[in-house]
Amino acid sequence: MTRPPLDLDAMAAGVRDRTPAWVARAITLVESTRPDHQAQAQRLLATLTPDAGRSHRIGISGVPGAGKSTFIDALGSDLTGSGHRVAVLAVDPSSVRSRGSILGDKTRMARLAADPDAYVRPSPTAGTLGGVAKATREAIVVVEAAGYDVVIVETVGVGQSETAVADMVDSFLLLALARTGDQLQGIKKGILEIADVIAVNKADGPHEAEAKRAARELSGALHLLGGGSAWTTPVLTCSGIEGTGVAEIWAQLTAHRDSQDVDERRRRQQVGWMRVMAEEAILSRFRTNPAVRAAVTDMEQRILAGSITPAQATEHLLAVFDKPQT
Ligand code: GDP
Repeated sequence: MTRPPLDLDAMAAGVRDRTPAWVARAITLVESTRPDHQAQAQRLLATLTPDAGRSHRIGISGVPGAGKSTFIDALGSDLTGSGHRVAVLAVDPSSVRSRGSILGDKTRMARLAADPDAYVRPSPTAGTLGGVAKATREAIVVVEAAGYDVVIVETVGVGQSETAVADMVDSFLLLALARTGDQLQGIKKGILEIADVIAVNKADGPHEAEAKRAARELSGALHLLGGGSAWTTPVLTCSGIEGTGVAEIWAQLTAHRDSQDVDERRRRQQVGWMRVMAEEAILSRFRTNPAVRAAVTDMEQRILAGSITPAQATEHLLAVFDKPQT
């Protein structure tokens, strides 16, 4: 059965008209790894780009159980209540392996899922982290063209995915948890460098005092670390369940956005994406190159036999790769 050709003009019009079904189909297209779909997706994105770019892009991360979905449900509902339109995307590296996504699952954000001014999309499940990040960056263009003025990209606290998300947003929020023994869960050194706002979550009931103490300590530690940049990362407390502290976090995220040249940050991000995509593309070509594939087993055997060094084998593989294919 042949399917009718995809009408990209109708899709672009449907996205601009804010029709959720068209938004969903457009994101499915940008997520597809099929070469013909990729070509169509790039044409669609070129059409939509003039209508994109006008949202506040926010990354939110935290360990599993930190309360991300509860918090996003609360923040997103407050925002739609004050006239915003909110899209929630996700970058979940585990979904790449399991082909099943937990992040962005509609049942996790019950209020937003039922909210006509919100759009919740699970993480793409195909490809590498680089592929998922690319699809999510392109999904941002789609939802912005559909008039969502706050775009939240959620990710779990796994180093690489946090960096990938920080590279696609204007402001990055880390949700941390207080734990006994004065330890903060989910704080790794690298994350302190990319977090623009930190909130110790679940500051409610018997844990409120503990969360406040943890926030004060972390705030002090951040001051000691310094950083030299104009923005000092604030450390707040909140409770996603009770909704307390959520407005203050939004105020800090807005202040952070206004403290920087967002256009400049986005232009630098685009240069970085080009580098990442070029590296991924070259690696993929190298791995799938027939001549390289034919030579690699032989090289492995020779290294095992001790007749060639790894550096010599590498040089040979690159020579094979560089040789013009006839
Ligand atoms: P996620 O894995 O980071 O998305 O976390 P969830 O939002 O699914 O929350 C994990 C668990 O923590 C659930 O049992 C929630 O009910 C609970 N939880 C989430 N937010 C809060 C909060 O603000 N306070 C308390 N006490 N529990 C919370």
